[in-house]
Amino acid sequence: MKKENSIMSRRQALKGMGTTVATLVVAPAIGTEANVSTNRNINVLENPVDKYPQPPYPKQKQPHPGLASKMDPLPDHGEKSYKGSGRLTGRKALITGGDSGIGRAAAIAYAREGADVVINYLPAEEPDAKEVIALIKEAGRKAVAVPGDITDKNFCKELVERTVAELGGLDLLVNNAGYQKSNPSILDISDDSFDATMKTNIYALFWITKAALPHLPAGSSIIATASVQAYDPGENLFDYAQTKAANVAYVKSLAKQLGPKGIRVNGVAPGPVWTALQVCGGQEQDKLENFGGDSPLQRAGQPAELASIFVQLADNGASFSTGQIYGAAGGGGHP
Ligand code: NAD
Ligand code: MG
Repeated sequence: MKKENSIMSRRQALKGMGTTVATLVVAPAIGTEANVSTNRNINVLENPVDKYPQPPYPKQKQPHPGLASKMDPLPDHGEKSYKGSGRLTGRKALITGGDSGIGRAAAIAYAREGADVVINYLPAEEPDAKEVIALIKEAGRKAVAVPGDITDKNFCKELVERTVAELGGLDLLVNNAGYQKSNPSILDISDDSFDATMKTNIYALFWITKAALPHLPAGSSIIATASVQAYDPGENLFDYAQTKAANVAYVKSLAKQLGPKGIRVNGVAPGPVWTALQVCGGQEQDKLENFGGDSPLQRAGQPAELASIFVQLADNGASFSTGQIYGAAGGGGHP
């Protein structure tokens, strides 16, 4: 959060202002935080095409799992913008991969909507996690950090038990953590890498869900983060795409199983979103430069742009929605 204004450079802010907005916003403050919040307060229309940085993005590489706080430009997780309205008051949420990216955006939104939140992440991500914990506390909610590796079956059980003990229950489970490694050919995928992808993206959901189920009361919501890769697999994401298709099947099958118990199960299928996953080997460097550039909105999405979807799927108001996959891909992909 050190460089929050870098998410929208002055050049991009200027480029991004439609004429109407530009007349409402007085220079020289264009692109500053105060200015952006003024826009939000008066609910000015925002053009999604130039709302956020557009390609080309700077090439950059971090070792896995990477830190959102080291990305350029910094992702927007809604730190400055998400405003709650009590939609999840009193809810008890567990979010895997809640330190950064899409999971962090969900964690911030959930807390501001009134939920207590446990986040799980890998120990190397502690600096990102600390920022999220502080933001949840700032929202006046209970925040619990449970670092650990979800490819370990025993840890998955501990994670759920710890959540239930700390929050006094669990009614909102977000299986969001994921591992993505780009490989040009199936011949480049080692058994270890294949195993890590399967364990993180499929086994962990199985283990965490089994541990959580006995604790989930009727009215609970389970949400899985799938991907457009489930529907249109990229040639370089052979193993990852299969796991994301598995996540869709997880949602569709489990929703049928748990519907009669009053537990809803839904998924989110993002397209290209500007997160650490992509700069830690999830994407080739040449593809990173134009990440999302081919979509109708001509840019990568930001995690903050998915937060309201995770809120909606968790909310009691969505009580007839289960077994659904909600897409957010800038106009391309499926569903
Ligand atoms: P991210 O790197 O910010 O989040 C992924 C998180 O997964 C990490 O922060 C890490 O805490 C967690 N994780 C990975 N391996 C783990 C392990 N072994 N144990 C515990 N935690 C582990 O990136 P993101 O893009 O926000 O990813 C969130 C989800 O979104 C993933 O499931 C990913 O597949 C999915 N997704 C992302 C995109 C995209 O373009 N960014 C597109 C479609 C789907
Ligand atoms: Mg992370």
